[in-house]
Amino acid sequence: MSQPPMSTLPFARDFDLPPMWDGNRIVWEGWQADPPSTLDYHMKPEPCPACGLVEPHTVNLGVIWSKPGVRPFRRARTYAEAALNSAADRKGTPIGWLFAYRCTGCRFDQVYECNTKQMWDLDESDYHAFGSHDPARPTTRGRA
Ligand SMILES: [Zn+2]
Repeated sequence: MSQPPMSTLPFARDFDLPPMWDGNRIVWEGWQADPPSTLDYHMKPEPCPACGLVEPHTVNLGVIWSKPGVRPFRRARTYAEAALNSAADRKGTPIGWLFAYRCTGCRFDQVYECNTKQMWDLDESDYHAFGSHDPARPTTRGRA
């Protein structure tokens, strides 16, 4: 039996990665090879929770953007702060960062949320237009 090609996904996906995170837009930077860090020499590599493969992952950095109108400065004190507030009125402001790790064997994705220091396993409910929602956060429009 041959290995499935890389394009075979473990389940159907509308998007390559969640386009939204708890209702806020994500801009993904693009997949890159996981750069070896000094941690690799001290820690055992984590096997993929889906297929058990112990291999380097590919990594994608995602920036979470607020909705337009969420200003980074309550009261702008400088021209630069005023300019950032003005830009935030039009297109929002960065409010968080995510690292997506994809298994090179089965394409299972895990996402590290920097704000909460939490690692999430993605499932098929996360790849639709409304993106990923933490069901424990009552203020989001999580799926029932
Ligand atoms: Zn895997």
